[in-house]
Amino acid sequence: MEFKRCPSCGGPLQAFRPLTDEEKEYVRKEKPDHAPDAYVRCTREGCRRYQRSWNWTDGGWFPPPEEA
Ligand SMILES: [Zn+2]
Repeated sequence: MEFKRCPSCGGPLQAFRPLTDEEKEYVRKEKPDHAPDAYVRCTREGCRRYQRSWNWTDGGWFPPPEEA
């Protein structure tokens, strides 16, 4: 777990975790310039932010969960 600034959550640093395989597939398409392993995801409930571990400005948001 890493603690990083999250532009969505603001405030104190948030805990980020490595991506799941499914999330890596998504990031691979969105960020072809870097290995998906370089990215981490915010663990705060409801936050969909992912960003590169060493550059928090390089990131994006996972799409909202599909409606049931
Ligand atoms: Zn967040």
